[in-house]
Amino acid sequence: MAIARVWIEEGCICCNACVNTEAAVFSIPDGMDSAAIRGEVRKDGVTDRNTAAGSDLNTAGIAWSDAIEEAAAGCPIEIIRFTTAA
Ligand code: SF4
Repeated sequence: MAIARVWIEEGCICCNACVNTEAAVFSIPDGMDSAAIRGEVRKDGVTDRNTAAGSDLNTAGIAWSDAIEEAAAGCPIEIIRFTTAA
């Protein structure tokens, strides 16, 4: 499955599970109280929860689709959401 967009809803408890699953996609930036989607895997290049911009993944990000799916399944509070490519 190819993932088109991934974002993180409110309420992150900073458990690091998603970062441990795939640090190329997820990070908890200094000073942030939530995991974020790395700018390196987004078309807009911004690192944040990706709820406001709703940026699609770039080619590098799409290549991590399986890991993103795994991270979403492993989030203990189920706030990692994604859409799949048509
Ligand atoms: S797995 Fe979920 S709760 Fe844990 S850091 Fe990632 S987004 Fe936050």
